[in-house]
This record gives sequence, structure tokens and C-alpha cells, in this order.
Amino acid sequence: MGLSAKKREHVRELVSELQKIAGGCLHPDGRPKTFAEMENECIEIGDLVTNGLLTEQVAKRDADVPSSCCPTCGRVGKRLPDEPRLIETDRGEVGWNEPAYYCDHCRRSFFPSRR
Ligand SMILES: [Zn+2]
Repeated sequence: MGLSAKKREHVRELVSELQKIAGGCLHPDGRPKTFAEMENECIEIGDLVTNGLLTEQVAKRDADVPSSCCPTCGRVGKRLPDEPRLIETDRGEVGWNEPAYYCDHCRRSFFPSRR
């Protein structure tokens, strides 16, 4: 994908760390794990990593929203309580609180991070 070679190398280093969590090729009682069992463990870890990354990125995106101006008239909106959002992704639920504003002139609420 779009990752630089340096970033890909960093991810591979982190995979070595995650390998400690995956727990090897044997069950606690000494039986060997099947390929499907090992794959499922790796998928579970990968899903948790993807979900955690996405959750943090979405929260950061909302914090970086530059403008509270109404998209219709450009006037500055009044801050409303954050709108809780929840999306079901292929890697589990991702939730965050989305900044919301209201424009008195246009009588509408708006969400700068959705633009
Ligand atoms: Zn407006």
C-alpha cells in the first residue's frame, strides 16, 4: 500500500512483538495447533490492531477539525454536545464523539469532520 519502506520495516519489528502474544505453535497441553487455529489467532490480533489504529485516527481527525463555520452560509456555528458515532467495520466496531455545531441563520446542525 502507501507505506514507505522505512515504515514497513517498523511494522515488521512490531510484528515480532505481536508474535509473543500469538503464543507459538502449541496448545498449553502440548498438542500442536492446526494451521487454521494459528491463522485465527493471527487474524484476531490483526483485527484488534486495525480497530485500535482506526479508533485513534478517527479521534485525532476530529480533534484536528479546523473550522466551525457553517458549510452553507459560512457563519460561525454554535457548539453542540458531541454526537456519539459508531461504525461497524470489517474489523469490529469503531466509536468516537463527533464535534457538532448549529447555525442559527440556516437553522441547521452540521459536522465539520464529515466534509
Ligand atoms: Zn449557515
